[in-house]
Amino acid sequence: MRNSLDECPNRWYDPVRTSEDGWISPGMSTPSQTNRGSTVTTLVHAQRLVGLLDDESGEGWIEIDGERIADAGRGAPSRTPDVVLDEGILAPGLIDAQINGAFSVDFADADADEVRDVAVRMLSTGVTAMVPTFITATVDQLVEQVTRYEGARETSNAVGVATRLLPAHVEGPFLSPRRRGAHREALLVDPTPERIAPLLELHDAISYVTMAPERDGALQAIADFVAAGIRVAVGHSDATDDQVRAAADAGATLVTHLYNAQSPFHHRAPGVVGAALTDPRLTVGVIVDGHHVEPAAVRLAFAAAAGRVMLVTDAVAALGMPPGVYELGGDQLEVIAGSPPLRADGTIAGADEPLDANLGHAVDSGIALVDAIRAATRTPADALGLTDLGRLEPGARADLVLLGDDLRARVTWLGGARVWSDDTIHEGPDATVASGQL
Ligand SMILES: [Zn+2]
Repeated sequence: MRNSLDECPNRWYDPVRTSEDGWISPGMSTPSQTNRGSTVTTLVHAQRLVGLLDDESGEGWIEIDGERIADAGRGAPSRTPDVVLDEGILAPGLIDAQINGAFSVDFADADADEVRDVAVRMLSTGVTAMVPTFITATVDQLVEQVTRYEGARETSNAVGVATRLLPAHVEGPFLSPRRRGAHREALLVDPTPERIAPLLELHDAISYVTMAPERDGALQAIADFVAAGIRVAVGHSDATDDQVRAAADAGATLVTHLYNAQSPFHHRAPGVVGAALTDPRLTVGVIVDGHHVEPAAVRLAFAAAAGRVMLVTDAVAALGMPPGVYELGGDQLEVIAGSPPLRADGTIAGADEPLDANLGHAVDSGIALVDAIRAATRTPADALGLTDLGRLEPGARADLVLLGDDLRARVTWLGGARVWSDDTIHEGPDATVASGQL
């Protein structure tokens, strides 16, 4: 049943229900929902749906039961839908697997309130799960930063109505000085058993560690991290392709920001790039912000590593902020309009574009829409072992984004509850998307 907005008994963002686990779920209960026995489900019909396992874009439907997707399919649904989305593209919520900060906050020194504030505001970019990144510091400092973040993460996730905070990405200090990018050279060290031991103890708080596999002791460290349940990415590395393959043999499964800060491709020395593009065991992050990687290189990555590319923002505190001076891991960086963030020496230091904007850059680079969306949803989820995120299939969490034709987020849902919408969505022809009670 399609209601006009005026007929809606409540606005989606009004908190009307608190579920058993304490999540405040806006707008979950409506007269138009179907009551099947004790189960209330919401049927959503979208003219453009992306995120089914068919990797197509077109008319489709999903049925939501509580916080999860109960069923999904192509074409029109078999009964009258509760929500009709005539405009935009309905997709799984976006997943950013590498983000250093946003909205003026640098995760490296953020307190719990600041982490929470970023997690809430990230909903406006369509991101429903993210992996905060902690760049090179001493191991003691990283342990302190990750431990502090872990407390903030648990608190924010328990409250809900914010981007899901995933365990951290530790980027350093086991990196190559030759490919250090914005990382402090004096702090780069080998991954000795003594240095990795405190990180192994934080296995529940760390999603993955980026390291250079050519450093002494790296292969043993990779095996130890993986055995502890921490994934390993090759990055900031001057490795040969053989060394990258040895890292994959030892258990590495990721490559951090393909092309940037790593040995480039040469036909007699394929380097990290050559190994990343040709080894099917590796999922490769790529920063597609219009600055870090040229369009042809983006196309090369999606062609050579089809299904293994994940879009990452590598965003810093400048995301969502005007040009100015911000911090990254304790160092200052400057953002000038139209340029990525730069350190004083001119080195690119992360990015300031949100993940929905990267989708647009990917499509502008010649990547098919469904492939770009998959690279920001299912592929990062799979790479992180989160098989109930990033897809529209039975059992998956009902984290969703409605993208406008410009591929920027218009509405964001978390666990079936509408948690953010662009105010302009309530005006003009787009108002039809506000007719449902999802
Ligand atoms: Zn990096």
